[in-house]
Amino acid sequence: MKIRLDAVEERIQHAVQRCGRSRGDVTLIAVTKVFPASVIRDAYELGLREFGENYVQEFQGKANEVSDLIGARFHLIGHLQSNKSKIASELFDVIQTVDTPKLAQRLDAAGKPLDVFLEVKLSAEDSKSGALPPELPALIDAVKRCSHLRLAGLMTMPPWSDDAEPSRPYFRALRLLGEQHGLAALSMGMSHDFEVAIEEGATHIRVGTALFGRRKKP
Ligand SMILES: *Cc1c(COP(=O)(O)O)cnc(C)c1O
Repeated sequence: MKIRLDAVEERIQHAVQRCGRSRGDVTLIAVTKVFPASVIRDAYELGLREFGENYVQEFQGKANEVSDLIGARFHLIGHLQSNKSKIASELFDVIQTVDTPKLAQRLDAAGKPLDVFLEVKLSAEDSKSGALPPELPALIDAVKRCSHLRLAGLMTMPPWSDDAEPSRPYFRALRLLGEQHGLAALSMGMSHDFEVAIEEGATHIRVGTALFGRRKKP
């Protein structure tokens, strides 16, 4: 894991240098979905503090084993059904997949302070969740009215491709939406395309495979 982390760090360094940004501008979120709690603990030992999980139920099973990791923050990066918002608010520090006013209100009602990202759907693939760009103003208003939610920024996931370059227009579109709505944080970029995301302004990259190897299907 150390060798993989070093390689990821090197890729991040190169990317930030290429576009005149600094390492501190980019937060590396280690995506530990499907891996056991021991992997989170090992990553923590290596200095990682931000972790991404996709499934509420899966993380519920691991959360006890990582609750003593001081300073670790857990991001929900998978789709959240509003009927699971209470348990999600207890388990996570950051919800990156807020995509409806109703979900925001349900999270707020749970009463715990949370950082949130709005997931934006930029591709036509209709299997993906996320708010459409024209829905953002109403969603932003709704989140701003939630006293327990702190609106950090936007998140997106481009259509899958083996190459990085096809993701660029999606990353660029997210950055423009962030500028348009005055939102500073942009969560975009995964193992195969995070350099392109950094070039396009990512502040948070979500990296699983490049750190932990290939996942088995959940
Ligand atoms: C799984 C996942 C990632 C990490 O993907 P890798 O290709 O393994 O780096 C990032 N973001 C989301 C939303 C994911 O579901």
